[in-house]
Amino acid sequence: MSDVLALDGGAPVRTAPFPSVQSAEGRTLGAEEEDAVLAVLRSGRLNSTVGEVTRGLETDFAAYYGVPHAIASSSGTAAIHLAVAAVDPEPGDEIITTGLSDAGTVLPILAQNAVPVFADVDPATGNLDVASVAARITPRTRAIIAVHLFGQPAPVVELRALADAHGIVLIEDCAQAYLTRTGAGGALAGTVGHLGCFSLQQSKHITAGDGGLTISSDAALARRARLFADKAWPRDTDERTHLFLGLNYRMTELQAAIAGVQLTRLAGVVADRRRTAATLTEVVDGLDGLSAAPATGNSYWQYPVFLDTVRAGADAHWYARALQAEGIPASGGYIQRPLYLTPVLAERRTYGTSGFPLAGPPADVTQEYRPGLCPVTEELIDARLLVIAWNERYGPADVADIVTALTRVHAHAIAAPGTLEPRTGRIASRSR
Ligand SMILES: *Cc1c(COP(=O)(O)O)cnc(C)c1O
Repeated sequence: MSDVLALDGGAPVRTAPFPSVQSAEGRTLGAEEEDAVLAVLRSGRLNSTVGEVTRGLETDFAAYYGVPHAIASSSGTAAIHLAVAAVDPEPGDEIITTGLSDAGTVLPILAQNAVPVFADVDPATGNLDVASVAARITPRTRAIIAVHLFGQPAPVVELRALADAHGIVLIEDCAQAYLTRTGAGGALAGTVGHLGCFSLQQSKHITAGDGGLTISSDAALARRARLFADKAWPRDTDERTHLFLGLNYRMTELQAAIAGVQLTRLAGVVADRRRTAATLTEVVDGLDGLSAAPATGNSYWQYPVFLDTVRAGADAHWYARALQAEGIPASGGYIQRPLYLTPVLAERRTYGTSGFPLAGPPADVTQEYRPGLCPVTEELIDARLLVIAWNERYGPADVADIVTALTRVHAHAIAAPGTLEPRTGRIASRSR
């Protein structure tokens, strides 16, 4: 085994590709999906308003989660838009969320003419910090959107209590968190809030290419969400009418056919990811300056590692580069910048040049989407968050290679911390 890092010209730990969500090797798709999709095709009923497959998926998903209502849609972003539209905020009302997520968490807030307000996150998980959320509640707050980042449970029990105390709605973004539980023997993520939203996009635990599911135990919220996804056309009545502003966010029967089979595989997918992740966690916990995500309830969409950059000898971006050189799929920070520093928000690129609804009125306060708004979020993205791609098809040899590479990279980093450049290059290169 080479003692020279691949980054410095040594032989990499691994040259063969890992199973990845971007191809068949890393997706759990089989003959049953083929049969299901062909059956729909041959039926000639490809749209959910004439076929029964999407309605069946909704029934199955609701039963799987033990809730009365599930509504299918075209994407995870759509699933969240359904939830926000069900809340029906006034233009300029505020919805509190995290800046450390996929943009699909935040864009539906803007699309529904509400104002995203960003709370900071817990340095140990990257999930919303309850005290920070509480501090950002105002009379205009209508909802909180919590993200279960990488499959780790966000503190939704506490957030639900906070939401109830203020008469506002809790939406759970579970796009990365199928079968995540809030704690040992805890509730399923998605069932604690008023609404839970899931994605079937290519990279998630299960996929139909794209697709979304919104669940709820609240009949009124569920009805509004369902109508919103279908032009607010009440198809359960005889009337061809449109009860309010809705869009067409319908899932197709082809997607639903695949998703229905994928659902039968979900428990196995999550169990496999948990089993292999536990092996890596034993190692990470023994490396000074590196902390694994809490294992309890985690469904491991990705495998995050949280760094103390001083003790770890380098920042997460250096670790990611060093791991990539060793042939390990890893990245630093998850996203390049907090969502509030992307042009859509920082430059208020919404509707024409109006900046609507971010600059008041209708907003009471013009949110300042600027560096420093959520210091922990920025610290994680800039330096402390290392993300190792995870997959249910990883075998013992795959995990062993990740362990070997991470151990080697860590040994070099702590042995020669001063010589590793740039340690905090991303922080230095951004003017702030
Ligand atoms: C993927 C994702 C979304 C958006 O889902 P799409 O299906 O890609 O629209 C929203 N939130 C989170 C946390 C995600 O990971």
